[in-house]
Amino acid sequence: MSAHDKLLGLAARPKVAVHKFSSCDGCQLAFINDAVSLLELSTLVDIVHFAEAGPLDEFAEVDLAIIEGSVNTKHDIHRLEMIREKAKYVLCIGACAITGGIQALRNYQDEKGLLSWQEGVYPQRTDVIIAEDLPTAKPISAYVPVDFEIPGCPITSIQLVSAVRAILFGVEPEKNVDSVCVSCKHAGITCVMVAKGEPCLGPVTANGCEALCPSLGRGCYGCFGASKYANIKALKQQFRDMGLTEQQITHKFQFINSQDAGLQGE
Ligand code: SF4
Ligand code: SF4
Ligand code: SF4
Repeated sequence: MSAHDKLLGLAARPKVAVHKFSSCDGCQLAFINDAVSLLELSTLVDIVHFAEAGPLDEFAEVDLAIIEGSVNTKHDIHRLEMIREKAKYVLCIGACAITGGIQALRNYQDEKGLLSWQEGVYPQRTDVIIAEDLPTAKPISAYVPVDFEIPGCPITSIQLVSAVRAILFGVEPEKNVDSVCVSCKHAGITCVMVAKGEPCLGPVTANGCEALCPSLGRGCYGCFGASKYANIKALKQQFRDMGLTEQQITHKFQFINSQDAGLQGE
């Protein structure tokens, strides 16, 4: 059955669960803090599980499971498989769920390096945590099929309500294919790369945030993930021409979405 056929088969008031894996909670909070959007969502769907906001029924059968966070432990995999089994659709929200997020930077460390990082942060021994950890932080799609994704770090309540509304109307949530530069031009924002010499990932990052960072005078750091026509090679050369070292360039691309294949390249 196609995704569209399944969409048309949704109940008039679908059951929805919101789940958290490894994350900072920022995507859920961005939504909870917008009471109007939360109220609007509660008029459209029946929220049966949302630990951050109240209702608890983790493994209830639902039409839509909304998932924040990346997969980091063996227990995460087991819980995720149960959630997928009980959900008609899975909607991932935010960079953590879609590409592994900032915590996937640990994928560049071996166990020894990771242990040394943890010892520098936590006062107690962390060997037990290490034993339960998977060797890498991975996105939800690495373990179960994902139907829809909302990019960002964090996402906004507008994105979430729009996506849920689209699903209720039987259409797939819209995906932006243009880059952040398009929003800059539409809004008449002065380019921070040209005017201030500020390295900006906007030319290779998917549109959808209304060029939030450039509108505040700072470069984009790629939180929406790669745009469809990203030319990584050209932007890296631009950064070299601006005087960035190879290490600085690598760090620019290996940040929030370090595991996004579209943001990697020559
Ligand atoms: S995507 Fe960003 S804001 Fe959302 S949970 Fe992950 S780190 Fe937090
Ligand atoms: S500020 Fe960044 S996103 Fe905006 S036009 Fe310049 S390079 Fe593109
Ligand atoms: S400008 Fe870039 S980093 Fe800033 S919110 Fe938009 S996509 Fe994210």
